[in-house]
Amino acid sequence: MNKKDYYEILGVDKSASQDEIKSAFRKLAKKYHPDISKEPDAEAKFKEAQEAYAVLSDESKRKQYDQFGHAAFEQGGSGGFSGFDASGFDFGDIFDNLFGGSGFGFGTRSSSNRASRGSDQIMRIKLSFEEAVFGTTKDIQLDVVDTCPECSGKGGFDEQTCERCHGSGTITSEQHTIFGSFLSKTTCPECAGKGKTYRRTCSNCRGKGRIKQNKTLSVTIPSGVDNGDRLRLPGKGNAGMNGGSNGDLYLEFQVASHDYFERDEDDIYIEVPITITEAILGCKKEVPTLNGNIKLTIPAGVDHGDKQRIKGKGINNTSSRHKGDLYYVMKIVTPKKLSREQKQLFEKLSKTDLEDTEISKFQKFVKQNDK
Ligand SMILES: [Zn+2]
Ligand SMILES: [Zn+2]
Repeated sequence: MNKKDYYEILGVDKSASQDEIKSAFRKLAKKYHPDISKEPDAEAKFKEAQEAYAVLSDESKRKQYDQFGHAAFEQGGSGGFSGFDASGFDFGDIFDNLFGGSGFGFGTRSSSNRASRGSDQIMRIKLSFEEAVFGTTKDIQLDVVDTCPECSGKGGFDEQTCERCHGSGTITSEQHTIFGSFLSKTTCPECAGKGKTYRRTCSNCRGKGRIKQNKTLSVTIPSGVDNGDRLRLPGKGNAGMNGGSNGDLYLEFQVASHDYFERDEDDIYIEVPITITEAILGCKKEVPTLNGNIKLTIPAGVDHGDKQRIKGKGINNTSSRHKGDLYYVMKIVTPKKLSREQKQLFEKLSKTDLEDTEISKFQKFVKQNDK
């Protein structure tokens, strides 16, 4: 057999990259495609190019070819490759680009009419401390790919049965390959398999049936969401294609901090500044909670950092159905400015025996430590 060299057919170097091979084939396909070419011998030239491309665009087949030449693809060839089937080769991406996605009738596996799910979308939402704690309803503005409202996703108006496929969505064509001709069924390029076309293309979406839209979405945010939490809104992402379902929308929260309420998951910590005398004598103090104020009884003799817990008064978390606790943390504030009278009182106090066991134990240790 005296076959032409595949590299020669495509007009590329032996060292050509996949991009160069693809673009060379694309040029030839445009020139010789039997449906559009007016060149003499177009069909034979096209078949030749198709075969060369099927081999050279596949790295493992290309390797075989480089090593064994055409013998690699002949029955019982020394390359161990018992013939390859060019008809099963997917030229889809080449021809989708070449002919505007219509797909020609020769084994191109068109996916343009397959239902596909829309993509998910994520959006970051800023919340105040209170909004996160109590939940809220928010109007959110976002750009999503949506079903075109003008044509209800059809892409056009005045529906009619496709003239090319007579409504079946597929066309039967004679396929010419190096192994001979046979009939093959392919997706109708006219209607992309829908069996219907439209007399008037929708100008709003240019026939796509989907369009990017700025939407306002009213969203209920449950109580207790925290920094970094995500809320999934099923079906609120980008619209699907050809009847495919919508993607999901995820809201990710950024929660502002509060001046006095500190949050640890569902628990809330509040520092309560008290004077030395309040710490010594104990007191009743009005303190905040998440829901208004309460009177807190601080016992005599509290230390700095002591905590008082109020069970179940933290965050009421809708998602986890958990109620956090509320903690008051004592913060003893030492006075920096004293009146003369106050100073005298403290001096008087310091002459009394204020020592307790913790202090005397420590002093004992300090004495021992002195060498
Ligand atoms: Zn059709
Ligand atoms: Zn439309």
